[in-house]
Amino acid sequence: MSHEPRGGALTLTADAVKVGPQLHFIDGDFRAGRDQQTFETLDPSTNRPIAMVAAGGPADVDAAVAAARRAFDEGPWPRMKPAERAAVLRRVAAAIREQADDFIGLECLDVGMPIRQMRGLAARAAENFDYFAEVITALHGDAYQVGGEFLNYTIHKPVGVAGLITPWNAPLMLSTWKIAPCLAAGNTCVLKPAEWSPLTATRLAALMAEVGLPPGVFNVVHGFGERAGAALVAHPGVNLISFTGETTTGSAIMANGAATLKRYSFELGGKSPVVVFDDCDPERALDGIVYQIFTLNGQRCTAGSRLLVQEPLYEELVGAVAERARDIRVGDPFDEATELGPLIRPEHHSRVLGYLDWAHQQGARLLAGGSPPPGRVEGNFLEATVFADVTPEARVFREEVFGPVLTATPFRDEDEAVRLANATDYGLAAYVWTQDVQRAHRVGQAIDSGLVWINSQNVRDLRTPFGGMKASGIGREGGHYSFEFYCERQTLHVALGEHSIPRLGVASA
Ligand code: NAD
Repeated sequence: MSHEPRGGALTLTADAVKVGPQLHFIDGDFRAGRDQQTFETLDPSTNRPIAMVAAGGPADVDAAVAAARRAFDEGPWPRMKPAERAAVLRRVAAAIREQADDFIGLECLDVGMPIRQMRGLAARAAENFDYFAEVITALHGDAYQVGGEFLNYTIHKPVGVAGLITPWNAPLMLSTWKIAPCLAAGNTCVLKPAEWSPLTATRLAALMAEVGLPPGVFNVVHGFGERAGAALVAHPGVNLISFTGETTTGSAIMANGAATLKRYSFELGGKSPVVVFDDCDPERALDGIVYQIFTLNGQRCTAGSRLLVQEPLYEELVGAVAERARDIRVGDPFDEATELGPLIRPEHHSRVLGYLDWAHQQGARLLAGGSPPPGRVEGNFLEATVFADVTPEARVFREEVFGPVLTATPFRDEDEAVRLANATDYGLAAYVWTQDVQRAHRVGQAIDSGLVWINSQNVRDLRTPFGGMKASGIGREGGHYSFEFYCERQTLHVALGEHSIPRLGVASA
C-alpha cells in the first residue's frame, strides 16, 4: 500500500508503513476466514483504504476457541511455573520495544494517533507485559489457621479461555492491558479487536509467534462486533469476557453471554468532570485541562470533557483554555509537531459534529474550534473545540462525545460542584483542582467515579485498581486486582487431626 507523503517534520512516514492483508491468527497460524468475507480498514487522515481485513464469523470463532481450549486443557502454558510464563512475557515486552517503530507506524496510520503520543502508548504496551510478569511471580494466596483443627488456604488457578474484546481508540495499549494479565495467570485467549483498528493486533500476533508463545495460547479473530464479537460472547467454550467499549455494547454483551454464564470485566464509557476551584494553581490547572481533553484525539475514555469552574475564576480560565485550544496543532499524525490527529471514521466525525449542532441549539457559546481546520478537505479532522455556558440539561454535558470537545459550566460552591460533577450516568474518572487539602479529599470522595485525580492529569500507576462506577463499568483491573478477574480463587480446607464428624445413619445406642 503506498501513501502520499504529507509533509511536515516526519521521522516515520505513512508510506514507509508496510501493511499486508489482515488475517486471523488461530493456533499459531495466520488464516483467511472460513467464508472468505473481508472488509477494508481506512486511514482516518484520508479515508482511503489501508488493507483488507478478514471478517470473522462463528466458524472462525469456533476454530479459535477450540485452539485456545486445547492449549488450555492439554498444552504447557497453564502448567508452566509462573516464573516461566513471566520469562515469555518479558520477551514479548522486549520485542515490542525492539519493534516499536512498526507498532507506532501501524497505529498512527490506522487510528490517526499523533506520533509523539503513540510513542508513549507503545512504551506502555511493553510495560504492561513486564509489569504483569512481575506481579504473577509475586502473587500469593492466604492461609487461615482454624485453631489446631484445620488449615485453610487459598490458591490462584487460571480460569480457562478468555474472550478479550477491545475498542479502537488506543488499540495496542488497551489490548495489552488485557492480554498481559490474562496470559500471566495461565489462561489462553481469543482477542477480537475493533473492526476500525485491526492493524496492531495482527502485528502483535506475529510477535507472539516469534517469541515462542505456544500455539493456541493467543488467538486473534478479526471482524465486526455484532458477528465475530457476538459469537465469541455466546460461545460455551469461553469462560470469561473482558470488554472495553461503549456502555450500550456492554449491556448487549451481558445479555448475550447470560445463557452460558460468563465472568465479565467491563470498562465502559465516560463523561468525566474537571472541577476547578478558585484557589487552584491556575497555570497547572490550565495545562491539565487542555492535556486531558485534547490528547488521544479526544477519543479517550478518561477524557476530562466537562470543565466545571468556580465563578470568580470562570471567565478568565475558560478564556485561557480556549486560547490554548485555538493554538493546538491539528494535522498529520506522522508529523512530530501534531498534537491532534483525525477522528477515527467519517461516521464518528459526523456523530461528533452532531453534538456540536445540539450544543449550539441548546444555547452554548462556542469559544474555539467547532469545525474542520480551514483548507483540510479530506480526513476526519476537527479543531480543538470549547463551548462555554453549557447547561447540565444539554446532551453535550451528559453524553459521551468521544472527540476533542470540551464543555465549560460555572459553579458557585462545593455543593453545586459535586452535584454537577455527578449529573451524568457515567462515573469513570474525575479531576479536582484546589490547593485546599481538606476540600480536595472531601470533593474527591463525594464524586461517584472509580478514579479521581487531585491536582493532576491522568497519571496511572499500574498497581492501582482501574475501573468505573455507574454506567462506566463493572469490576476493577490493575495490579493484583487483574488477577481477581483472570484467576479462580480456590479454597482448600485441610483437617489437621481427628475433629468430630457428626455421624448419620448409625443406630442410636
Ligand atoms: P464499541 O462498544 O462500539 O466496540 C468495542 C468492541 O466491541 C469492538 O471490538 C466491537 O467490535 C465490539 N462489539 C460491538 N458490538 C458487539 C457485540 N454485540 N458483541 C460483542 N462485541 C461487540 O466501542 P468503541 O466505539 O470501539 O470504543 C469507544 C468506547 O469505548 C467509548 O465509549 C469509550 O469510553 C470506551 N472506552 C472505555 C475505556 C475504559 O477503560 N473504561 C477505555 C477505552 C475506551
